[in-house]
Amino acid sequence: MDLALGEPSTWGKIIWFIGLVVWLAIRYRPNRTSRKNKISSTARNPIETFSMIISFTGLGIIPLIWIFTGEISSLNHATNWLMVAIGAALFLWSLYLFRITHKALGAMWSVSLDLREDHKLVTSGIYEKVRHPMYSAFWLWAIAAPFLLSNWVAGFSGIIGFGTLYLLRVRREERMMEDEFGEQYRDYSKRTKRIIPYIY
Ligand code: SAH
Repeated sequence: MDLALGEPSTWGKIIWFIGLVVWLAIRYRPNRTSRKNKISSTARNPIETFSMIISFTGLGIIPLIWIFTGEISSLNHATNWLMVAIGAALFLWSLYLFRITHKALGAMWSVSLDLREDHKLVTSGIYEKVRHPMYSAFWLWAIAAPFLLSNWVAGFSGIIGFGTLYLLRVRREERMMEDEFGEQYRDYSKRTKRIIPYIY
């Protein structure tokens, strides 16, 4: 890693990496507590597994490889402080959303499509505004990356990676929730949007 501390591109990398560490810290406890809450049914399948690997690779692995090995640096591009500042603001917003979605979902959270024993539909707090605020947070992360990471591949791999997961998952997730919660979920869907309040 080249640490030219006067360069906006270096600070973009540092801020992205700190964001990743904070995100891991936000996930640490929900991961442990939800594991104790037994899964009653699951909609996981090979496509789910495949799309989680693609997402993880695009959002995390490719940027990490670029940051720490300098691989693909022939595809670097120029950047400036404004880009880095916008990226930092988007990433901060994303982390804030992760924190409040984890708080709202509590032990109902899963990394994939699982229903827990005694699963309750959460429709309050941030879930009153959109049905998939955690996916809104991932989109913000994916969109922050090209502002922070001045490389064409490492910057955009998250949009492609998470985009794949999102497209392959969101309908299946809503079907799973509808099968479980029926009318309650249909009502909830009628009054909320997916990831952008009032818009989408
Ligand atoms: N799509 C949501 C949650 C992602 S985590 C979001 O973006 O915020 C995925 C798990 O959350 C799924 O296994 C599902 O069981 C659970 N889940 C999704 N929406 C929920 C809700 N409104 N209430 C309770 N659990 C929910």
